[in-house]
Amino acid sequence: KIRFDRVTKRFGEHTVLDGLDLAVAPGERVTLIGPSGSGKTTILRLLMTLERVTDGVIHVDGQPFSHMPAGPGGALVPANERHLAPRRRRIGMVFQQFDLFPHMSVLANVMEAPLHVLGLDRDEAARRARDLLGLVGLADKAGSHPTRLSGGQQQRVAIARALAMRPEILLLDEVTSALDPELVAEVLDVLRGVARSTDITMLCVTHEMGFARDVSDRILMFDHGRVLESGPPGELLDAPGHERTRAFLRTVR
Ligand code: ATP
Repeated sequence: KIRFDRVTKRFGEHTVLDGLDLAVAPGERVTLIGPSGSGKTTILRLLMTLERVTDGVIHVDGQPFSHMPAGPGGALVPANERHLAPRRRRIGMVFQQFDLFPHMSVLANVMEAPLHVLGLDRDEAARRARDLLGLVGLADKAGSHPTRLSGGQQQRVAIARALAMRPEILLLDEVTSALDPELVAEVLDVLRGVARSTDITMLCVTHEMGFARDVSDRILMFDHGRVLESGPPGELLDAPGHERTRAFLRTVR
C-alpha cells in the first residue's frame, strides 16, 4: 500500500504539490489526469525516489519510504542513497522516452537489471526475459537491436524491462505520448494485458482516456498540485463534478 501524507514538493519558490494526501491499495490501478504542470509526473518521480519530498512523508506498506528513522527518538529524517536503492527496486517505471540501451540486443536489455542488480544467473535472467518478451508480443525480436524496432516495439521492450525486476508497483508516465498515433494501440493493448494478467499496483499518467477507462479502478483529476476530484472511471469521466474537469476532458477527446 502506498500512502502520501501531506506531501509538499517545491522547486525553489514554485510549489508543485501542496500537502497532498493520497492512498493507493495493493493491486489498485490508479490513473492521474490533469493539465500540464499540475504535478502528476512529480508524484511518480517522488515515488521512484528520483526526487525528494520538501515536506511530508511517503509510506509504502506502512514503512516510511521517503524517510528513515534516526536519532534517539526515532525521528524521521530523509533517507540517504544507501537506503533508497533497495526501495527503488520494488518499483518499475516506464517513461515517455523508452531509453533502451542502444548497443545491446533486446534480450540483453531485459536481462540487464535482473543480472546485475538482482544477481540472477544468466540462464534464469534469460528465461525470465524471454517470458516477458512473449508477454509483450516480441518473442521473435529477442536478438534484434532496439534501433531496428519501431517506437511501439521499443516501448513494449521497455515494459518488459521494467517487469523483469518483478516490481510490486508499476509507474507509467505518458508512455504513448512520444509515439506515432498508429503505434499507440499496440502499447496500450500490452498494458491492458499486464493489468489483466498480474496483480501489480499501477499508477499511470496518461491522456488516453479509453485506456484509463479500461484499466483504472480510480481516476484522480489533478489541478495545481491537489486532487480536484476522484472516482471510478464511469463516474469521473462520464459525470465529472467540476467544470475544470469537464474542460480538461474536452481537451483530451
Ligand atoms: P506534464 O503533463 O506536462 O508532464 P505534470 O502534471 O506531470 O505535467 P510535473 O511534470 O509534475 O507536471 O511538473 C509540475 C511543475 O513542476 C511544472 O511546472 C514543472 O515545470 C515543475 N518542475 C518539475 N520538475 C522540476 C525541476 N526538476 N526543477 C524545477 N521545476 C520543475
